[in-house]
Amino acid sequence: MKILRTVAEVREAYQGGEVGLVPTMGYLHEGHLSLIRKARQENEIVVVSVFVNPTQFAPNEDYDIYPRDLERDAELAREAGCDFLFAPSAEEMYPAGYRTYVNVEEITEKLCGASRPSHFRGVTTVVSKLFNITRPKRAYFGQKDAQQALVIMAMTSDLNFPVEIRTVPTVREADGLALSSRNTYLRPDERKAAPVLFRSLQAARALFLQGERRREALLAAAEKVLAEEPKTQVEYLSLVHPLTLEEVERVEKQALLALAVRIGKVRLIDNLMLGSGLVEWEEDDYAQDNV
Ligand code: AMP
Repeated sequence: MKILRTVAEVREAYQGGEVGLVPTMGYLHEGHLSLIRKARQENEIVVVSVFVNPTQFAPNEDYDIYPRDLERDAELAREAGCDFLFAPSAEEMYPAGYRTYVNVEEITEKLCGASRPSHFRGVTTVVSKLFNITRPKRAYFGQKDAQQALVIMAMTSDLNFPVEIRTVPTVREADGLALSSRNTYLRPDERKAAPVLFRSLQAARALFLQGERRREALLAAAEKVLAEEPKTQVEYLSLVHPLTLEEVERVEKQALLALAVRIGKVRLIDNLMLGSGLVEWEEDDYAQDNV
């Protein structure tokens, strides 16, 4: 595996061959590694980017303290099958005078976009740049960040990027907590409380699997579980159409059940897709069990 630091190095590193790109912010965990392994299975060349992207953080957010460990990331990425690790500096991606941004409208204003108004503009900008720099045939995104994956799908379609967007199910700890680099911020008592996010989603899914389709009933089941954990502060709990991200009154074919919850100072997100037929979403390991 080779580590590349500049756009010029990427341009020289490979020519031709089907490339699978896995964009990350580093501090790799099993969630990232499942994306890399899938890319390895499906492509001749696997490129992993590690870049803590400043444009997707608001000034009051955790850009400066976001965990970073490139040496460890390089080892993990190599073991999972990465050929080229692209780890540019902020100056390489955004040199002085940088002025161009990509913005997907509407769906970026819902869910996480409501409290993080410039977040997705940063994400779509950096992913567009990564697509142009690394020229992938396929790019891999985690269902853990469902809105992000849906926004990237919309951007790729709208801007005609010749890239196939592949999504990978959420990887979880044994107690259901979705793996996230930000879990390292949790104090031990907060870590203990954190699985309540997934438990609340599962409670709604259990009802859904019994045939319940009404918003009110599904959200009430999730809310009841969240209310049992006093450390939680719910930012949103939503049941939305997976393409428009508009709130739905009933689940027709498919709906995304998503939440953002603060535990202490740490903001955690999670989601489950209910039903199928609108966006292609691989079933996670927990779809039938543990409900
Ligand atoms: P990040 O480094 O947090 O920007 O994440 C990089 C990619 O890994 C994104 O596509 C995430 O959705 C994905 N990812 C993060 N956590 C998980 C997880 N627990 N399971 C699956 N994919 C994940």
